[in-house]
Amino acid sequence: MTKPKFPLHPETIAVHAGRAIDPATGAVSGPIYLSTTFQRAPDGGYPAGFSYTRSGNPNRTGLEQALATLEGGAAAAAFASGLAAAAATFQALAPGDHVIAPREAYHGVLRLLREVFVRWQLAVDFVDMTDLDAIRNAVRQNTKLIWIETPSNPTLKLTDIATVAEMAHGVGARLVVDNTWCPMIQQPFRLSADLVMYSTTKYFGGHSDVLGGALVAHKDDEFFQRVRSIQNEGGAVPAPFDCWLVHRGLQTLPWRMRAHCENAMRVAQFLGKHPKVERVHYPGLSSHPQYELARTQMRSFGGMLSFELKGDRAAAMALPNRTQIFTRATSLGGVESLIEHRQSIEGPETLTPETLLRLSIGLEHPDDLIADLEQALML
Ligand code: PLP
Repeated sequence: MTKPKFPLHPETIAVHAGRAIDPATGAVSGPIYLSTTFQRAPDGGYPAGFSYTRSGNPNRTGLEQALATLEGGAAAAAFASGLAAAAATFQALAPGDHVIAPREAYHGVLRLLREVFVRWQLAVDFVDMTDLDAIRNAVRQNTKLIWIETPSNPTLKLTDIATVAEMAHGVGARLVVDNTWCPMIQQPFRLSADLVMYSTTKYFGGHSDVLGGALVAHKDDEFFQRVRSIQNEGGAVPAPFDCWLVHRGLQTLPWRMRAHCENAMRVAQFLGKHPKVERVHYPGLSSHPQYELARTQMRSFGGMLSFELKGDRAAAMALPNRTQIFTRATSLGGVESLIEHRQSIEGPETLTPETLLRLSIGLEHPDDLIADLEQALML
């Protein structure tokens, strides 16, 4: 695409970013460059900028350009998984640096901090990120990074991105937002975040068939150069085919997110009125304790929700055995709807209520999803 002189909407950027017609063949959908190595010029140089695929690959470069452009960042680094992207972020810190992390977030990130990075001498405080005073009190002179996930997994608590960014910047620290649940509908850079992290396994891939992660930087500064170096030296890079798949998924992301959000709102409203449901966690419902914050920092409310069932753990474990469209499985962000008893997957440190079920709302017709939950809740 020739770069138009008028501003583009995200839908258009998503379709075209990081792509070009293949000059060798005219192919519209670009090739997958499986080659691990690239020919050097007679003077020893690398005429196309590629030498060895761990250091750089055309499919990865295209994906990184698309991720940075879509997010409004200066640069992006793609990884083999979301956790590899998170690990590279923490590895870019130095022993003794202080990190503030959420008490509630994706359990894999919390475990990575507790079990790997605390042993490598990062000082980590786990804080209730809905409580701005608690965050303020946790900030130290050697705080270098604040990590937030908003809405959080699995009870969709929100963190005020702009206020926490200000706190971080007050001591020269960086704010990283795990935006995995909210691509397109929440733009952390507009709220002064420094880095945005994604598990691209989820909405970017969009079809539950590829693992990936990314870190997008607002500024291509010295910290991000360290992340880049860890990407190459550590080698947790995505395969070319995986980059191609995520890049393809990204093309339809803006439109898919609209449908995920619309469907989730319908399901949340249905569950909110159901007599067997104790509580629904969804930031788009006015009953959510941070609904006003959701309206200011989110454009739409996402495709993820959870609810607590009246009754006991056994009742919550049994309900997913009765759904006929929702699949009993972990993960999220695919076209198909998933249901999961979250406490039983999170391990001994879990704070999740035993009657909580988490839903990843897919792209089926919302009436069918509601009918499925209705019949499963009947017993
Ligand atoms: N962050 C969030 C919010 C997640 O939900 C997940 C995975 O479920 C991850 C990070 C980790 O991503 P991955 O499984 O791609 O390593």
